[in-house]
Amino acid sequence: MEGLKAILVICDGMADRPVPALGNRTPLEAANNVNMSTLALRGECGLMDPIAPGIRAGSDTSHLAILGFDPFTTYTGRGPFEAAGIGMDVKQGDVAFRCNFSTVDDNMVILDRRAGRIETGTDQLAATVNGMQIEDVTVYFKESVAHRGALVLRGPGLGADISDVDPHEVGQKIHVAHAIDPNDAASAKTARIVNEFVRRSYEALKDHPVNKAREAEGKMAANIILPRGGGVAPSLGSFEEKYHLKPAAVVETGLIAGIACYLGMDIIEVPGATGGLDSDIAAMGNAIIKALDDHNFVLCNIKGGDIGGHDGDAQAKVTFIENIDRVIGMLMDKIDEQTYIVLTADHATPVAIKDHSGDPVPIAIYGPGVRVDSVQSFDERSVVGGGLLRIRGIDVMNILTNLMNVQEKFGA
Ligand code: ZN
Ligand code: ZN
Repeated sequence: MEGLKAILVICDGMADRPVPALGNRTPLEAANNVNMSTLALRGECGLMDPIAPGIRAGSDTSHLAILGFDPFTTYTGRGPFEAAGIGMDVKQGDVAFRCNFSTVDDNMVILDRRAGRIETGTDQLAATVNGMQIEDVTVYFKESVAHRGALVLRGPGLGADISDVDPHEVGQKIHVAHAIDPNDAASAKTARIVNEFVRRSYEALKDHPVNKAREAEGKMAANIILPRGGGVAPSLGSFEEKYHLKPAAVVETGLIAGIACYLGMDIIEVPGATGGLDSDIAAMGNAIIKALDDHNFVLCNIKGGDIGGHDGDAQAKVTFIENIDRVIGMLMDKIDEQTYIVLTADHATPVAIKDHSGDPVPIAIYGPGVRVDSVQSFDERSVVGGGLLRIRGIDVMNILTNLMNVQEKFGA
């Protein structure tokens, strides 16, 4: 595509706290990340609070914020994004859930929450429950990877504030869902539909040939579907209409793909992009460059750093950051002088706490017209004092669309 373009590289969970085993350096400080530092040297840097100072962000809420959607007003749970991420049509007002295929006995007592980690045949099981009608609600169900799936309820007057049917424990009877607030008629209706769906899923699946074959092999039957994490699908509108940019997404996880899909971005599938520490992220880099042929905005999420953080493995994180650094070097080599790179993280995942923290993350913007500052390295402490100072995730797209001259003027 002609004109100014931008690549937004969000390294999942890359930021961290000082690690004693790394000489009180963070993994970013310990890593040999010469290309990221070249980008910082030639760009404008700062710290970013993905949501607000000290707020511990999920990947979904952080990506919404960085893409310019206030998660405090738009986020309704991950269900709608999980469903969109596996290609389901999710419309405003639908209620969507993540689901597990599980195994229960005749008394609805959980034998295995993951149905023996079923790998095949779930598409056939899904087909038997997809499209059913309960009251005036149409039920859509689609399988995802392994024992997972997603449920979308479409009909008038649905809420999503309901209790869980999944007892989250083997040996427990499944729960009856109810509205959290007894005066919430919309959620009460959804609870009724969900309870009926769960009951009918058992009726439809218990004698299904896929399960008969599994039982003959001594495997757990996937004989019930348990929804959880429901949310009313929010109205976010299209990214393209909001920013006048043609967007693509090169991402690894279903959740982030779901957000991208929900915002109308073209999803670029990359073989070998596993979302793990073994992911072929060089292939993702090539896919980004190719996507710029017919898009002028590419969102990229690289997952591995977050996994190192959740595993508490500082060295794995350092090594993975060095892999990302090679991709950043390749991007800088291949883009033209009309293309921006924004490099940041969606949150810190400190190896010391093995979960997301509310610490700010480094950000660098490289491209035409940026006010190059004195920052020379890309890590949590070196970017302090850069020209961006300390921004919030929700500021990123404003700063970028201003640089790209595609933003409408506020006022006369
Ligand atoms: Zn994340
Ligand atoms: Zn994480």
